Amino acid sequence: MMRAIRLHQVGGPEVLRMEHVAVPKPSVGQLLVRNTVIGVNYIDTYHRTGAYPMPLPATIGRDGAGIVEEVGMGETFGFKKGDRVAYCSTPSGSYAELSTVNAAQTVLVPPHLDDEHACAAMIQGLTAHAFVKGAYHVKEGSKVLVHAAAGGLGRLLVQCSKKLGAYVIGTTSTEEKKEIALAAGCDEVILYSEKNFVEETKRITMGRGVDVVYDSVGKDTLLGSLDCLTRRGCLVACGNASGKPAPLELGLLSAKGSLSVTRPTLNDFIVTRPEFEERVNEVFRWIQEDKMKLKVMQPIFKLEDAQEAHRFIEARKSVGKVLMRLE
Ligand code: NDP
Repeated sequence: MMRAIRLHQVGGPEVLRMEHVAVPKPSVGQLLVRNTVIGVNYIDTYHRTGAYPMPLPATIGRDGAGIVEEVGMGETFGFKKGDRVAYCSTPSGSYAELSTVNAAQTVLVPPHLDDEHACAAMIQGLTAHAFVKGAYHVKEGSKVLVHAAAGGLGRLLVQCSKKLGAYVIGTTSTEEKKEIALAAGCDEVILYSEKNFVEETKRITMGRGVDVVYDSVGKDTLLGSLDCLTRRGCLVACGNASGKPAPLELGLLSAKGSLSVTRPTLNDFIVTRPEFEERVNEVFRWIQEDKMKLKVMQPIFKLEDAQEAHRFIEARKSVGKVLMRLE
């Protein structure tokens, strides 16, 4: 048996319950990993609230790092017992002492990275990479707007866009976070809690608008984000931190200048082993070259404090990667 955080019904953080459950068995193409750290991602809150429905009961959680305990049958890409790995695809869920993980989306942690930063490189690092070099191709001179630019994903989208030569505008809610977004590389930061971000974006771009908006805020910003785009610009709608946006009327896209909208999810950008390896190797290289600066949030929570970890992220307190550590 092992300890796991289980979800039997959707609701507030209080529905996350510690239980003792059977250790899962790795099936074909899977590994069993003893977690040292577990990522707490915004998507976990969507699963908990039912915004993204999942069959219940379930163990939630998408990424983590730890030690391979057992190797399943089939293609497991040479992983062996005792390997130190990080992963971002787990059929059994990561909020547990042990998790089954898909070997195809698992990587050996290089010596220069600790488990905490390796885990931070998984969903947040890989998503930032996939969204600037996949969902949309940011290029030298691209004008980019990143919402929640001081947040975990936001900071990395800013860094990656800058690395590719873009001019980056960020939005955030407080003066303190504005400094963090500027330190991440934003050329301009708009306090969308105080100013109309559409007008500000137009002002900063001298009426032109931006080529791409990364909108992970959703309900509160989505329509405004369309108005920030230049003709034939692209909205990358990638999250719902403020709630699910209203359905989008397609006619709006032609009316506002032949815009395009994409709603990407990381899983579709790491489908095959070569695709995953290419992205993760580049992310690790960017980290080593100090071009992607991951931030691990303190405190690191214990597994039994999963409720607190969810309250922390939902209270907009994170400017990096929220983690739980197994003692
Ligand atoms: P963040 O650290 O960015 O936290 C979310 C941020 O959203 C907050 O800090 C806050 O920043 C902003 N926000 C705006 N309105 C609200 C609100 N009403 N309630 C709470 N927060 C609000 O989290 P993550 O980096 O983990 O994730 C960021 C987003 O990216 C999430 O929406 C997540 O779902 C999405 N994502 C999508 C992926 C995909 O594959 N599509 C993969 C990974 C993440 P501020 O105070 O500056 O406004």
